[in-house]
Amino acid sequence: MVKDGSDLGYIKEIADFPFSTKEDGSCEHLLEDHLCAVYNSRPDICDVEKTWKKHHNKISKQEYFISTAEICNSFIIESKLDDKFLIDTKIIA
Ligand code: SF4
Repeated sequence: MVKDGSDLGYIKEIADFPFSTKEDGSCEHLLEDHLCAVYNSRPDICDVEKTWKKHHNKISKQEYFISTAEICNSFIIESKLDDKFLIDTKIIA
């Protein structure tokens, strides 16, 4: 299992997300320690590299990863979650 800093309450807003959500809107497979319980069989939408290869490969992987991280960060800020969840996009660049 791998840390999943991207899984927050907004997951319930994703159309066709294959899993149920908890009362706080987070995925039913998100564990208390922020690990994904089904990491090796997670859906494509949870796999940034797979999503880039399948749908966004006209831009560089780095650009896609940064834009995805920025979107995640905006959800984190909007949701007033702890800053510890913010993704440092400088480490992607
Ligand atoms: S399947 Fe795993 S990676 Fe995807 S939202 Fe649920 S906990 Fe997060």
